Amino acid sequence: MSIVEELEKYAKENKIPIMQKDGILYLCNYIKNNNIKSVLEIGSAIGYSAIMMASSQNEIHITTIEKDIDRYNLAVQNIKKANLENKITIKNMDANEYSTNNKYDLIFIDASKGNNQKFFQKFKDNLDNCGVIITDNLSFHGLVENPELIQTKRTQKLVEKIKNYITFLDTNKEFKTTYIPVGDKISISRRIIDEQNNSNPKK
Ligand code: SAM
Repeated sequence: MSIVEELEKYAKENKIPIMQKDGILYLCNYIKNNNIKSVLEIGSAIGYSAIMMASSQNEIHITTIEKDIDRYNLAVQNIKKANLENKITIKNMDANEYSTNNKYDLIFIDASKGNNQKFFQKFKDNLDNCGVIITDNLSFHGLVENPELIQTKRTQKLVEKIKNYITFLDTNKEFKTTYIPVGDKISISRRIIDEQNNSNPKK
């Protein structure tokens, strides 16, 4: 069994929420096709998506943040097992506490779903000129489109937050967002460039 298959099995057996297969494959293709060299990932869990992204391209570096100590420890072990320590830097902290001046080609938001907007705003200035912010789980297992299937108040609140995030993206004047119906639905947000001035209208 490959390390990737092992991680998929472990995640399934232990109910660790990792990206769905077609979602992560889409992301890896996106990385290859757009020559992405640097990624900031919010939410590593056991390192599955970081390992997949790091394996998709020769010259790439992933910085990934995980606040849960047990998942972080597992991710560290898995990254070592995959022999990708030189391509992945993992940090054990709350991403709300992380700040950096580094610029990234891609920022991947895959942490607590209620905090998407907070992380988008916190890290948007760490994007390189042509960089994108990708967010996972915008369908939230179909519940965003089918709210009648929601069974608990907690889930209802979460779905509300995801809907608010979608509204935030749709009305954002600085970024244009497209939605890709792969996995649990992802969004790709790209900074709008003022063609005439060849610069960001907000800058
Ligand atoms: N990207 C991973 C993958 O596909 O393999 C899955 C990430 S899982 C959906 C979300 C992870 O984000 C959880 O392990 C959770 O502990 C972590 N998380 C949630 N809020 C966080 C925060 N504020 N800072 C860092 N990590 C956070």
